[in-house]
Amino acid sequence: MVSPLDRKFSERFRPLSFGPYGHAEAPRWSAGPTTHRKGPSLTETTSTTGITDTAGKTTGTTGRAARTGTRTRRPSRLRRLAMPLLLTTGLCLSALTAAGPAQAGQPNATVVDSTRHGGRTLALTFDDGPNPTDTPRLLKVLREHRVKAVFCLWGDHVRRHPELVRAIVKGGHTLCNHTMRHDDMSTWSPEDIRADLEATNAEIRKVVPGVPIRYFRAPYGSWGATPEVAAEMGMQPLGWRLAIGDWEPPGTDELVRRVVEGVTPGAVVLMHDGGGDRSQTVEAVDRIVPLLRADGWRFDRPARRG
Ligand SMILES: [Zn+2]
Repeated sequence: MVSPLDRKFSERFRPLSFGPYGHAEAPRWSAGPTTHRKGPSLTETTSTTGITDTAGKTTGTTGRAARTGTRTRRPSRLRRLAMPLLLTTGLCLSALTAAGPAQAGQPNATVVDSTRHGGRTLALTFDDGPNPTDTPRLLKVLREHRVKAVFCLWGDHVRRHPELVRAIVKGGHTLCNHTMRHDDMSTWSPEDIRADLEATNAEIRKVVPGVPIRYFRAPYGSWGATPEVAAEMGMQPLGWRLAIGDWEPPGTDELVRRVVEGVTPGAVVLMHDGGGDRSQTVEAVDRIVPLLRADGWRFDRPARRG
């Protein structure tokens, strides 16, 4: 949810670069300490993981203990090279949404950023596709590793690449509405939001009739009135807890590092299969999955109903 205004946000942030859509969806990675920032439409809190490369006090026994499944902290070997990381909360929870009582099985307006089962799990989510170059490669990688993910689709891209939507569904993945054209809806009326979200769902349903569209994610994390509208339409607003900045792109090694060092139990992780060259993301996923599984992590779906 970075806007160009964020360029001035902090000298601790790296120089920003934007993809072909002129945006990024989360704050930059930073070597700086905990930072709080406010956007025009919501409050977004970022925090460090508490990891430092000299933080012996926090790394002492984590390696063995993590493998027992009784701890929630990451093993020390994943921390060894760590620097303070920014975790990005894509959710705004009560500060943003007034989540009302939900019917059983129905989403509410809470922006979720956690997995369904919690514990030592994470959920992979991919935005801005489908993308004819990288989405098929990503699907192949996910299939090989037997990981199910969430794909947050642009309506316009669905229209251009319907076969990729069918492939996503065939792969057993979950669909998420990411609007027709990736507009910032933070100031839109509920009526205008609903019209766009319905148009996006209509494009998806034309291609894969009857397939549930379980989530909605606001472009740039600019939620505005979108959570309530999405929930009314049966879609759970989907945030994220960790964004890896793959729009830069910073190199596959760096993406791998950001995930294995930045992931926390129950985290929804934001990545991109569209919006530019995402080959590094695909390669990173191919490496991340076995690394994390070897450390006892499991891949889960995001929660519903907050
Ligand atoms: Zn996006």
